[in-house]
Amino acid sequence: MSVFTKKKEDFMAWYLDIVRRAQIVDTRTEVKGMNVLLSNGYDIWDRMKKILDDKFYITGHKNMYFPLFIPEKFLELEGEHFEGFVPEVAYVTHAGKKKLDKKFALRPTSETIMYHMYSQWIRAYSDMPMKVNQWCNIIRIDTKDTKPLLRDREFQWTEAHTCHSTPEEAVEQVKESMWIYGSTYDECCLPYLITKRPKYDTFPGALYSIAYDTPLPDGKTLQIGTTHNLDQGFAKVFNIRFQKEDGSHDYAYQTCYGLSTRVIAAIISVHGDDRGLILPPYLAPLQVIIVPVIFKGKEEAIDQECKEALEEIQKAGIRVKYDDSDKTSGFKFNEYELLGVPIRIEIGPKDLEKKGVTFARRDTKERIFVTKDKIVETITELLEEITEELKKRAKKLMEESMSDAATYDELENKMNSKKPGFVRINWCGDVSCADEIKERLKAEIRGTLYGKEEVIFGSCIICDEEAKEVVYISKAY
Ligand code: ZN
Repeated sequence: MSVFTKKKEDFMAWYLDIVRRAQIVDTRTEVKGMNVLLSNGYDIWDRMKKILDDKFYITGHKNMYFPLFIPEKFLELEGEHFEGFVPEVAYVTHAGKKKLDKKFALRPTSETIMYHMYSQWIRAYSDMPMKVNQWCNIIRIDTKDTKPLLRDREFQWTEAHTCHSTPEEAVEQVKESMWIYGSTYDECCLPYLITKRPKYDTFPGALYSIAYDTPLPDGKTLQIGTTHNLDQGFAKVFNIRFQKEDGSHDYAYQTCYGLSTRVIAAIISVHGDDRGLILPPYLAPLQVIIVPVIFKGKEEAIDQECKEALEEIQKAGIRVKYDDSDKTSGFKFNEYELLGVPIRIEIGPKDLEKKGVTFARRDTKERIFVTKDKIVETITELLEEITEELKKRAKKLMEESMSDAATYDELENKMNSKKPGFVRINWCGDVSCADEIKERLKAEIRGTLYGKEEVIFGSCIICDEEAKEVVYISKAY
């Protein structure tokens, strides 16, 4: 029986329930939007870091750490960038009671401080490509309602910032970042749409922005990552200048991309059910939990079997634990289901008799008996099968979230329905039409499909003038 608000009945209540009960986040800090990422949440983030760090490493990124305080003059240097962040920037103005001569911004993102340093490090084309990644927290005093992991005022993220000697290399870097993030989302069995954001919604100071949006089961969408081609905008402001091979000078071509703990919110939302989390096997900090089903007189024999299984599974390089605590097996079953551990192995008296173990899958709740010699083999197969099952579900969610609207009425009906998802429309490209969609429907143009020209199927849905693009509309978190 479910102890949660049903996901289908009230998605947000369900989400908040899970985050609290699975001990992912504790919001009782008395600092709005700044929460404790508890160890269960941190373990997931830590796995995400490992997965991404491996990809950063093989693609030549270097991890570094830059200061949290950013001199205000850096932000002001890039006027457009600064304007974009003004409403959300938090400042440090005092040291004790003494007012500081110059105030500092708490980083809302690190372009300015990093590029100030790059200008001192880069002298020649041979200093590039320079690819730096930073794992850190950022602070944005968002005025909207905060929701743990979905919309926080302080959150953990990765931000990578690169410099190149040609514009072509910067374009290639954008593609590389799309592989880094895209393959990670795939490993997390997340559905996502890659769009090029409309000009007015481009990252302040960037040439263009690519965003990754995932559809959530409540019909809204969540941005789970972005990549920006900065071209030479920041390099000119921060004087990241270099000597080319032919002796002439040019400014660096830059890109940056970021992904935050929001991705955990997406994983919880997309995969979880009324019993708790369902973690994709590749990401799950713990892939297998062994639970003894204790029976009087058989305690020692069962314990022995569990320990043997544990050792064998550990040696196979699978992330496994044996819970030999005093809690009842029923309590443990619920607990690990809540935490989303993909596979549970039960060993009880009947399993002992039959010289085997019982497997329980978290995703389908299916139970399978397997003889002792097949334990590791079965885990390997099941982890694969669970991944496939979750990908199948993600694909279905994506398909169900996609639709077209040829008229405004159709769009309005869809946006006011229970599950709006992504709706494809024709747009003239005018900001005034985008504003109207925002005002009347509380929805936003997410952008054009990246890397694929789509055929326009009508006139602009708002003004009826000639359409220039096919764009995706959604209600976003
Ligand atoms: Zn229009």
